[in-house]
Amino acid sequence: MADKRSKTKYIFVVGGVMSGVGKGVTTASIGTILKSKGYKISLIKADPYLNVDAGTMNPTEHGEVFVMDGGLETDQDMGNYERFLNQTLPRENYMTNGMVFKYVIDKERALGYKGKCVEPTYHITEEILRRISESVKKTDAEIVVVEIGGTIGEYQNAIFLEAARQLKNKNPKDVMFVMVSYLPTPPSIGEMKTKPTQNAVMQMNSYGVSPNIIVARAELPVDKKRKEKIASMTGLLSSEDVIAAPNVKSIYDVPINFENDGIGLRILNHFDLKPKKRDLKEWRKVVDKMRQASKEVNIAVVGKYFDTGDFVLSDAYISIIEALKISGIHLGVKTHLHWLDSKKFESGGKKELAKLSKYDGILVPGGFGETGVEGKIKVIEYARVNKIPYFGICYGMQLMVIEYARNVLGLADAHTVEVNSKTKNPVIDIMPEQKKKLEIKDFGASMRLGAYEAIIGKGTVAFSAYKKVKILERHRHRYEVNPEYVNMIEGGGLVFSGKSPNGVLMEIAELPKSVHPFFLGTQFHPEFLARVLDPHPLFTEFVRACMGKK
Ligand code: GLN
Repeated sequence: MADKRSKTKYIFVVGGVMSGVGKGVTTASIGTILKSKGYKISLIKADPYLNVDAGTMNPTEHGEVFVMDGGLETDQDMGNYERFLNQTLPRENYMTNGMVFKYVIDKERALGYKGKCVEPTYHITEEILRRISESVKKTDAEIVVVEIGGTIGEYQNAIFLEAARQLKNKNPKDVMFVMVSYLPTPPSIGEMKTKPTQNAVMQMNSYGVSPNIIVARAELPVDKKRKEKIASMTGLLSSEDVIAAPNVKSIYDVPINFENDGIGLRILNHFDLKPKKRDLKEWRKVVDKMRQASKEVNIAVVGKYFDTGDFVLSDAYISIIEALKISGIHLGVKTHLHWLDSKKFESGGKKELAKLSKYDGILVPGGFGETGVEGKIKVIEYARVNKIPYFGICYGMQLMVIEYARNVLGLADAHTVEVNSKTKNPVIDIMPEQKKKLEIKDFGASMRLGAYEAIIGKGTVAFSAYKKVKILERHRHRYEVNPEYVNMIEGGGLVFSGKSPNGVLMEIAELPKSVHPFFLGTQFHPEFLARVLDPHPLFTEFVRACMGKK
């Protein structure tokens, strides 16, 4: 009899008990482990929001807006997936309830369902499954891991679980579920409790599906006795299907920890598959290096909203933090970041600026609007004049061009039209196509988004980092260096070392190495392409320059 089993295997990762215990990192780690065993992997996030993409969400509330090659604005988990997996994923790999519902409703309005009654279970679930199969086509994946956002028992994510159940119904042996649960240790009891996990599994069972593996998040590794208890109370095949996930110092320890409990083989066994290659060799090397790094570089990150607390910032700037960390690991140093509120430098004068001299480097990340802009420009001037390594990302590059135009070229009112639309010297201006979108208030995706090619000039700092002429980098902005000022700025000594292939858009600005140890800004967001196994060359050059300052 012909083998009816699906060529593709599916793993759905769901959260039990509570949110925020690391479903995203679990998904990324499972993918990394299975890839290291020789399988082609696709990682998908299904988010319960009604937002059609993550572009309109406030990063200080929801975390970073991550941008994919295809230009889709997504949740920060996609960043973890690509960083861990060392793989660029297609836009099909991110979906929200909003995106799925909008597609189905638009199709219904266009008579796409030919008079049928259009219903959540069937038509919405069909659309969810269609997206998953599109992703399989694009990635040629042998194993797909789908993270379902939210926690078991919510109304919002139930439709994704129903889609997963339908898929499992059709391919019983080729679909499995991993529940990421939490085992609290109440201080008054002093013992790890399994009851909330049992309850979460009962709730999951009521959707018609059950976990095949439970990842047990807890302060400490869950012991054998509790593994047995969880397995017997929740219907797992074996206590080996309970994977200990104790708190770790770094999220990069997670894949190694999971493998200590053998999660990779448990998953492959479930699908009757065998490993094609052995283990996480490369990954382990990076983690060893991370442990060995003893020196430290101190980097000031200057932006607005930095009074909201470290917890929020670590989410809002996660890709920059990780990009610096990864380059640091490869260079053998720890990157210690200091969050400075740019508004301080507007009121604080020279005394406040002088405090910057103690840092090994300064970074101004992307941003929008006028708050704190003058403070950032003062900081950039200080970095330029005092030869402190400076890295400007997106807004940080635009403000670097404004600073140069004002203080070196003498255009005192040089500005971006984003802040001052009436300036006589709009060195940063809006591109005509974007202008049209703003006029009709089409703010969603009214930016230059996604991967664009750029050409690097030989003999520049950028070239010595990339070591190639053609690069591909991801963008997310409305404004650009005004082409009318390019000759004048270059004549004044600032080099545009990266340009769009037609030469019109300025993608990288820098000062020559003979003038400054590192003064470079990018119109794009290089942080989106830093990978744990493949650090981003510009971040590496910046961290290297910071190490040199000592
Ligand atoms: N506000 C600037 C623009 O829209 C920079 C955007 C950014 O830093 N991501 O062009």
